[in-house]
Amino acid sequence: MNYDVIIIGGGVIGCSIAHYLSERGASVAVVERHTLGAEASGAAAGLLGVQAEWTMYDSLFQAARKSRSMFPALSVKLRDKTGIDIGYQSSGIYRIACNEETAQQLRESVSWQQNLGEQAVIMTGEQLRDKEPAISPFVHEAVYYPEDGHVIAHELTRAFAYSAAASGATIYEETEVLEIERSGNTITGVVTSRGRISCAQVVVAAGSWSTPFLHMQHVGTYPVKGEVLSVTSYKSILSVPIFEEGFYIVPKRGGRYIIGATVTEGVYDKTVTMGGIQSLMQKAVAILPALQEAKWERAWAGLRPQSKAGAPYMGRHPEIEGLYMCTGHYRNGILLSPLAGRYMADLLEGKSVREEGFVCY
Ligand SMILES: Cc1cc2nc3c(=O)[nH]c(=O)nc-3n(C[C@H](O)[C@H](O)[C@H](O)COP(=O)(O)OP(=O)(O)OC[C@H]3O[C@@H](n4cnc5c(N)ncnc54)[C@H](O)[C@@H]3O)c2cc1C
Repeated sequence: MNYDVIIIGGGVIGCSIAHYLSERGASVAVVERHTLGAEASGAAAGLLGVQAEWTMYDSLFQAARKSRSMFPALSVKLRDKTGIDIGYQSSGIYRIACNEETAQQLRESVSWQQNLGEQAVIMTGEQLRDKEPAISPFVHEAVYYPEDGHVIAHELTRAFAYSAAASGATIYEETEVLEIERSGNTITGVVTSRGRISCAQVVVAAGSWSTPFLHMQHVGTYPVKGEVLSVTSYKSILSVPIFEEGFYIVPKRGGRYIIGATVTEGVYDKTVTMGGIQSLMQKAVAILPALQEAKWERAWAGLRPQSKAGAPYMGRHPEIEGLYMCTGHYRNGILLSPLAGRYMADLLEGKSVREEGFVCY
């Protein structure tokens, strides 16, 4: 077997790169040791929270904004091509403040975002409850970001992969990459648990497990565990996601509500703990008391791939010919996936591209 490009990792990032590259005619294989979206990409809540997340400006904000703007057309394209509905909702997101101090910080973030041309609407608690009557008086103030939204993360991952396959890509599941093979400083292929595959280019998109493949000192990723739960309700409790620092409730189709997420650095085990779930439930019920009547569905944990540099690594290896990396998207990999995929496809095609906020070498 021989491909132009082998992508290590069948998460949202690897599958997005495969989608954009194979649409341009490259011969691509995605090699995933479990199943597509088995790790962070299947665990995510799917928020496209550019303004809700970035209360302080940093260089990744512009990339996040650009990536968010790709979703309306992408959702239509993926549905037409694969039949998979990624559940894109352009509903906006409410970022809430439960005390005056947080409300003040939120108002400050509104002004710089509006100066950059973004929409943001400050709402009193009463104005918020006019729109979402189930929200408790515990919520003091909110900002509505109409351009933010959400998707179903696992479906997005699958849709990227199926689209890539429809354009000729090969998807290997249950196949682990054991080693990247090279001759001197040039990539020649990968050794997998099912044998050797030849290629001229390899992209490391292995999330929290990327470090051994990056072959650079001080460059790597580590896991930040997040626990999440979901409940269902026949009655509608909330129509637009609610976001607060480190906490969210996201209404999904079919009466589901995803409530997340805890933050534990450096842990590779995905155990769901009583303490983690209890803290999420307490918070959720304080904000939306009607959730007490909701039906328990399930709880799970995922590992956000954080980069040692604090921003995603996206680029070429400085010394090894044919080795590329696209990893470390931490808590925004779903949001950043379309831009990351397109950017990497440009790079692999040899185009000279640059995107603010990505760590490149
Ligand atoms: C609880 C939680 C909530 C989140 N919520 C959001 C959100 O609302 N919005 C958002 O934008 N982001 C969110 N994120 C972050 C987002 O999920 C990640 O940034 C994104 O999924 C990272 O994608 P990835 O493809 O890099 O990594 P992963 O999805 O982890 O994929 C990496 C893949 O590589 C495979 N792999 C590893 N080693 C090998 C090997 N040797 N051989 C073959 N395959 C290998 C793994 O099995 C895995 O499937 C959340 C994450 C978590 C955990």
